[in-house]
Amino acid sequence: MPTHLVWFRADLRVHDNIALAAACRAKDANVLALFMATPEQWRQHDMAPRQAALLRAYLNDLQHSLAGKGIPLIYKEVNDFAAQLQTVQEICKQHEVTHLFYNYQYEFNEQQRDRQLEKMLEGVVCEGFDDSVMLAPGSVMTGNHEMYKVFTPFKNAFIKRLKEALPECVAAPAVRGEAIKELPELTFDYPQQPFDEALFPADEKAAIAQLRQFCKQDAGYYDARRDFPAIEGTSRLSACLALGAISPRQCLHRLLAEQPQALEGGAGSVWLNELIWREFYRHLMTFHPGLCKHRPFIGWTDNVKWQSNDKQLKAWKSGQTGYPIVDAAMRQLNETGWMHNRLRMITASFLVKDLLIDWRIGERYFISQLIDGDLAANNGGWQWAASTGTDAAPYFRIFNPTTQGQKFDADGEFIRRWVPELNGIPAKAIHEPWAWADKQRVKLDYPRPIVDHKQARVATLAAYEAARKA
Ligand code: FAD
Repeated sequence: MPTHLVWFRADLRVHDNIALAAACRAKDANVLALFMATPEQWRQHDMAPRQAALLRAYLNDLQHSLAGKGIPLIYKEVNDFAAQLQTVQEICKQHEVTHLFYNYQYEFNEQQRDRQLEKMLEGVVCEGFDDSVMLAPGSVMTGNHEMYKVFTPFKNAFIKRLKEALPECVAAPAVRGEAIKELPELTFDYPQQPFDEALFPADEKAAIAQLRQFCKQDAGYYDARRDFPAIEGTSRLSACLALGAISPRQCLHRLLAEQPQALEGGAGSVWLNELIWREFYRHLMTFHPGLCKHRPFIGWTDNVKWQSNDKQLKAWKSGQTGYPIVDAAMRQLNETGWMHNRLRMITASFLVKDLLIDWRIGERYFISQLIDGDLAANNGGWQWAASTGTDAAPYFRIFNPTTQGQKFDADGEFIRRWVPELNGIPAKAIHEPWAWADKQRVKLDYPRPIVDHKQARVATLAAYEAARKA
């Protein structure tokens, strides 16, 4: 009897999991599953303790779902990729594995590891799948067979491909044997921090339910609501997608079931665009492995003379910059592990363009806090904000933190939620509390701006200009 081993990575679900479905296709095969935690590596990358807690929740849920179908999950904690390879080799030997199934990861080191794996496992048939994307990297290319460098033409080509053939979802495997009882609680030696289960679904079933509800009730209004952080206008599915509790294909199909015009530019199409941004950054990473090493996409931006100012960096991290929208956003991140997309753009722009601090420092800080931390999306977002990446806003376009606040949190509802020190200030004045305090001759328990935006803008433009000419 053939033995099939499924190596789970960032795909912790049983529905629409291509590797799992492929392993279970042959009815006569003995199917085993494997997950290897690598806390040592997570430490090196500064993985957020809230993301670790969510990963653990998904892992235990996966163990239960597989056990219900009669599939045992082998669980190991190992140091690094070399140890992962050795462990797979040992398991293959011990269980006489004939076929190994796994879903690709697109980060550079992970790709290298998988190449090595395929060479190493003699006598075991290895099958990898493009599962964490709707369309495989390399399948959406320019007429010259190159990866797009700009989002909009990529998106147009992507939608054309979807219209030609929608990627299908695969069903969860059928029950293969007697349910396995008495499962151990799986955990690992890595700091974990509780997360709010009302905001971030803690298992696959809850993730699917949140997707269904969002597509039915909110996706049609996403365009009008997505930019206002005081409103729950976005799906909050990023953490489920990052760890693979749901797939992008499930998102696509659910969206089209509720919003049939989404592919034609109708209701729901703007949410689809966001899913395509996610794909864009994943595709890009496979063609530009330097991004995984945090190199800028635009080479000359490496010449920018970044400032080193620990006091200002600390103020940014802790939400004490004196700019209310920036501070409210950073406090939301620190306290929940998530930040609204508009605010990610504002806070990233502030660090890079107002404080002139290297975007890589911000990128790393976000990963250390985000429950949805994802190398491709985070790097893409930071390079976008720093104007060092593809499709970046030109470096001379600089967000003004005050007018951004006035535009996207006009009456200060979001600010008041996270910066209670400003509760007593009228809505009109809340974005410039220092000016209001001076006028009223009162002292606020809130810092004055740590930089003058106008001056900072001039200095940043000069620094980028000098780098471009260098
Ligand atoms: P929705 O608005 O409901 O969007 C649906 C899904 O599309 C998201 O769950 C996400 O998977 C994807 N998505 C949305 N916007 C983007 C985008 N701009 N780029 C790539 N994918 C997108 N997203 C992450 O998943 N992980 C990160 O580490 C991350 N870091 C970011 C850092 C910066 C500086 C910026 C500007 C953006 C970052 N994003 C990141 C993208 C985006 O902010 C989040 O995906 C989004 O806020 C998550 O909320 P949501 O699930 O409600 O998104």
